[in-house]
Amino acid sequence: MDINNIWNSFLDKIKNNENVSPMSYETWFSKTILYELDENLATVIVPMHVHKKHLKENYNDIIEETFTDVTGSNFKINYLTEEEVEKNININTDDVGVPNIDSFESNLKDHYNFDNFVVGESNKFAHATALVVGEKPGTMYNPLFIYASSGLGKTHLMHAIGNYITINNKKRVLYVSSEKFVSDFINITKKTNKDNFDNVEFFKRKYRDVDVLMIDDIQYLGNAEKTQQEFFNTFNDLYGNNKQIIISSDRSPDDLKLLEDRLRTRFNWGLTIDIKPPDFSHRMDIINKKIESNGLNTNFPQDVKEYIASNCTSDIRKIEGAITRVVAYATMMNGSNITFDLAMESLKDYFGECISSKNKIDQVQQLVAKNYNITVEDLKSKRRTSNISVPRQIAMYICRVFLEKPLPKIGIEFGGKDHTTVMHSVDKIKKELKTNKELEKEINKIISKIR
Ligand code: ADP
Ligand code: MG
Repeated sequence: MDINNIWNSFLDKIKNNENVSPMSYETWFSKTILYELDENLATVIVPMHVHKKHLKENYNDIIEETFTDVTGSNFKINYLTEEEVEKNININTDDVGVPNIDSFESNLKDHYNFDNFVVGESNKFAHATALVVGEKPGTMYNPLFIYASSGLGKTHLMHAIGNYITINNKKRVLYVSSEKFVSDFINITKKTNKDNFDNVEFFKRKYRDVDVLMIDDIQYLGNAEKTQQEFFNTFNDLYGNNKQIIISSDRSPDDLKLLEDRLRTRFNWGLTIDIKPPDFSHRMDIINKKIESNGLNTNFPQDVKEYIASNCTSDIRKIEGAITRVVAYATMMNGSNITFDLAMESLKDYFGECISSKNKIDQVQQLVAKNYNITVEDLKSKRRTSNISVPRQIAMYICRVFLEKPLPKIGIEFGGKDHTTVMHSVDKIKKELKTNKELEKEINKIISKIR
């Protein structure tokens, strides 16, 4: 048997050894070569110093045993890099650091999963697509590009996909922020010592030996040419091997002005989905889910939930913050008893700046509902009993006259009503106000509470 055949049979056996995972085989064995056999010594060429160290320390027994199996005699193994063979030297590897590829870090947080991702109108498409990618990574939507403003669940959804794949598919998933990608990349380019090669190789392994790569907040990739080039290479390598790529951003691919065109073009090869801010009922669902999962349902009043839902319209992180704040405040001040007044008090500075105009309509609805002991849902419903239709007309009136909102917009915000319906309601209240002083007082009281 010539030396190559010996080594090939050896590698075959190693590959099938149950103590050597496919990943380890790829990493540590696949690029080794048997250089020479000399009495009792076999010299093996390895790509890097790190291989020398790792093979010696972790696989030496398996290697020697297998090698004896193949050759029928006992050999000691001498691992050398090509450079060492050429220069006829042997560098001590005791202090070469070995990154541990076997205990692979996916960076996934298991509390972000599909079970606690609340689905509504604004994210149902994103959710459905994410499920498909979770079921069949690398096949249907590749790359998957998710964009939305901050706090709308991009990161949550990515982790959910990753967790789903790891549990059901046992594939290798890597989640990183784009900053992490950049800093990993900068680290390898900074180093100019002899280990540099190892670092480059490990960077590649980290980002390319995966089945699913997720890069969060790609807008922070930066405009450094080299980083973009490396990302481009990584992308192409994965894509070419049908590995799933998932990218998130706060804007659409076309709006990622800092990125090179060829990258943006590639993002558009797959599927681009966006997540919009949740509507009122979706926000209520989210609040209920958060309260339930924190075991707080019993003492969280409906009007407080509606108060939060009305004021936090565009950021789910903000909703979570509001719940936490109310609970903390109640614990401190009121023996854990949550009331509407307490919630108002605890959140008065919290909502402050983030009131957009849409928020104001929500706010009016909330205040009116509260004032008449009904719910915001009632106001948006089609019910016509006077205990609901009168407050609804009042709320519409305030939105029109005080907030000066367009009729169609008011219609939409009141459960999709026609603008003529809004107009009739406003007129009706105007007329009523000419004679009804009580009503005027009532309305002024509500208006005074709008910030
Ligand atoms: P983004 O990455 O878009 O800024 P995150 O994924 O970090 O947003 O979401 C912010 C917070 O809101 C997280 O705590 C997340 O769990 C929560 N969240 C976002 N979307 C949902 C949803 N649909 N259901 C439940 N929680 C959500
Ligand atoms: Mg995020």
